[in-house]
Amino acid sequence: MVNKKLKVAVIGDGISALSLLERLGKDEGLRSKVDLTWIAAPQKAPGCSYHSTALITDHGIDPSFGGLGSHLLEALEMSFGWDFLNEAPGVYEAEHWAIDDGTDSFARRYGRGHPECEHFLFERPLSCRKARAKLIDVRVFLPALKKRVEQLWHCDVKNELVFNFDGQNLSTDQGIHQIDYVFWCTGAGVTKPQSFLQHPRASRLKRVEGLAYHFKIPEWTSKNFALTLGRVNIISRAGDVFVGGTTQNETARIPDARKLSEQLKGLSEFGVRMSEFKNRIPLFWGGPRQKGQKKKFLIEALNEKEFAVLGTYKNGYSLSQLGAFKAHTWLLEKLY
Ligand SMILES: Cc1cc2nc3c(=O)[nH]c(=O)nc-3n(C[C@H](O)[C@H](O)[C@H](O)COP(=O)(O)OP(=O)(O)OC[C@H]3O[C@@H](n4cnc5c(N)ncnc54)[C@H](O)[C@@H]3O)c2cc1C
Repeated sequence: MVNKKLKVAVIGDGISALSLLERLGKDEGLRSKVDLTWIAAPQKAPGCSYHSTALITDHGIDPSFGGLGSHLLEALEMSFGWDFLNEAPGVYEAEHWAIDDGTDSFARRYGRGHPECEHFLFERPLSCRKARAKLIDVRVFLPALKKRVEQLWHCDVKNELVFNFDGQNLSTDQGIHQIDYVFWCTGAGVTKPQSFLQHPRASRLKRVEGLAYHFKIPEWTSKNFALTLGRVNIISRAGDVFVGGTTQNETARIPDARKLSEQLKGLSEFGVRMSEFKNRIPLFWGGPRQKGQKKKFLIEALNEKEFAVLGTYKNGYSLSQLGAFKAHTWLLEKLY
C-alpha cells in the first residue's frame, strides 16, 4: 500500500493520451492518489490524431489473424461501449460498405459479398458486405475530449519536448520533472529516449505516412457512410468527404493528383457514381502514423516504471481504448 501521492507523467495530447487521461480521471480513488504532470509538444513533435479520418469499424478484422485480430476486436468493442464516445459531439453513426471486387483477398478478409443496390452512390447493383461504423470529426471530438480531461484533472497540458526518463528524472527542453511513472503516448513524433532504444519492440516501431484527400460536398450533409473498394476508402460525414488509399511511402506528404484520379477512376469503373467529385478541388489531409512489426501495436510496460501506448497505426481511435484499459490496470497494481 502506497501512502504518498504517485508522481505520474502522461506524454502526448493525441487520442491515446486523452483516452488514458479520461479513463484514469474517472477513477476518483486513483485520481486522489496521483500527482499528474501532463506534457505534449504539438508544434515540435506534430501528432497524428488531428490529421486522422478516424473511422471505427469492425469490417475486415479477423479474430484468428495471428493474435492481432482478437486484440483489434477487443479494442473495437471497448470503443463502441465507451460512454464518452457515445455522447460526444463530432461522432456519427454509420454503415461501412465493403464492395466485393471478386478477388481472393476480399474473400479472405470479408467472405463473399451480397447483392446490394440501395446505396445512393451505386450506378448498378454491387456485391457488398456491411458493418457498423462510427465516423469521428476529429476537429470537434478531440477538443471536447481534451476539455473533459482538463475538467477531471484540473490541469493543463505543459508545452514541453521530452528527451529522456532515467527512472526518476524526466528531462525536457524546459527543465527536469521528478517522476515515479511515465506513460508514453507519443505516437510517431517521439524523440528516442533510452527506454525505447533498449526495448526490442519499441526500437522497431516505424513511421508510416497516412494520406487522404478532403472534399467538401455540402449536398451530402445527411449522408454518413464509409465505403471500401480494394485499397481505396471513402468516408463521408456531414458534408466532409475523405478519399484515401492505404499505407503510403515517404512521399505521401506531397499531394499526388494523379494517384487520386486513378483511385476515383477505379471506383467509377466498378460502378460507383463519381460525378460529384468532378471539378472539386480537394484539400490534402495526412500525417505520420506509426506501426510495429506485422502491424502489431505496442501497448505494454517497457520496464517497471514506463508504460507505452504506441504503434496504433490505422486503428488508433479504437486501440487507444485498449491502451487506456491496460495502462489503468498497470497503474492500479502500482498503487495497491
Ligand atoms: C490520414 C490518416 C487516416 C487515418 N485513419 C484512421 C482511421 O480511419 N481510423 C483509425 O482508428 N485510425 C486512423 N489513423 C491512425 C490514427 O489517427 C493514429 O493511430 C492515432 O491518431 C495515433 O494517436 P496517438 O495519440 O497514439 O499519437 P499522436 O496523435 O501522434 O500523438 C502523439 C502526441 O505525442 C506528442 N509527442 C511526441 N513526441 C513527444 C516528445 N518527445 N515530447 C513531448 N510530446 C511528444 C505529440 O506532440 C502528440 O501530442 C489515420 C491516420 C492518418 C494520418
